[in-house]
Amino acid sequence: MQKLNDQLGREIDYLRISITDRCNLRCRYCMPAEGVENKDHQDILSYEEILKIVETGIKLGIKKVRITGGEPLVRLGVEDFISDLNRLQLDDISMTSNAVLISEKAQQLKKAGLDRINISLDTLKPEKFKKITRRDNLAEVLNGISAALNAGLDPVKLNVVVMRGVNDDELFDFVELSRKKNLSIRFIEYMPLGGEAEAEKFISTKEIKELISEKYQLLPAVSKGSGPAVYFKIEGASGKLGFISALSEHFCSSCNRLRLTADGKFKPCLASNQEVKITGINEKEIIAAYRQALKIKPACHNLNFEQQDYSRNMSQIGG
Ligand code: SAM
Ligand code: SF4
Repeated sequence: MQKLNDQLGREIDYLRISITDRCNLRCRYCMPAEGVENKDHQDILSYEEILKIVETGIKLGIKKVRITGGEPLVRLGVEDFISDLNRLQLDDISMTSNAVLISEKAQQLKKAGLDRINISLDTLKPEKFKKITRRDNLAEVLNGISAALNAGLDPVKLNVVVMRGVNDDELFDFVELSRKKNLSIRFIEYMPLGGEAEAEKFISTKEIKELISEKYQLLPAVSKGSGPAVYFKIEGASGKLGFISALSEHFCSSCNRLRLTADGKFKPCLASNQEVKITGINEKEIIAAYRQALKIKPACHNLNFEQQDYSRNMSQIGG
């Protein structure tokens, strides 16, 4: 079995695939109110092109993929695309979604071969949801979480971006949710990527943990596909709590991922503007693009609130 190693010897076996940069929400930390300029269909990779890129990646050493966006469920045909991916014998197919559209699709996605899902939800309060996402869809998201659990997607993880003065008053509510439901709830540090990035909203993992520890004892735990998250649980809980410190503690030395943008570029690091355009989809061209992307993969990101000159926001990168 081939292995894809970058210049620093990190083994890259995980591809995050953005299938669209469109979205049905407008989260303030991710997108401007008016959304981002929609790309023409001819500028977006077709499913066939993505499959070819994955198939070639598997020959090189890619083992796991995550489907993301924008919002992946707004692109038509995603269930069939996952079925096709599933035939390629990957070890793991996952998705990151806002879950607004998942209720109707969860069973079908599971049947198509989706193993697990991460759902983004920053608040359990309808008014606040409207403020953060600029849309009124909390009920759909909550139904979507139940539908994902009922469909047998396992694990179902929640991504909660913690923001000072916005949702830091709901930490205990999320902890209680992990007691009742079999969810891995991951508290993610707010990053200065696109949208309205305000340094004063940043709260470090250390502080989030301290706040939770005022009321709960965090017991170490593990979770499938845990990546950069560190997991805990509270006594007697069905679910888990995870912490992702993108800014305060770099996990770059163990980074195993590469990103593919909807418009056909490899992005070796979330926080770097360097990209590699895939110039054609014959195998030779795809392999050359993989190799070039690994060659320029930086040792570490330099995300910070002072120097916000990132060329894409998260919805255009594929978070
Ligand atoms: N639309 C899908 C969703 O929201 O789950 C997938 C794409 S979204 C860009 C992927 C993840 O990026 C979400 O969990 C979202 O919360 C996170 N994200 C976007 N902008 C962020 C920021 N500035 N800081 C931290 N996380 C961010
Ligand atoms: Fe859309 Fe996800 Fe960005 Fe929110 S975080 S605007 S749901 S892409």
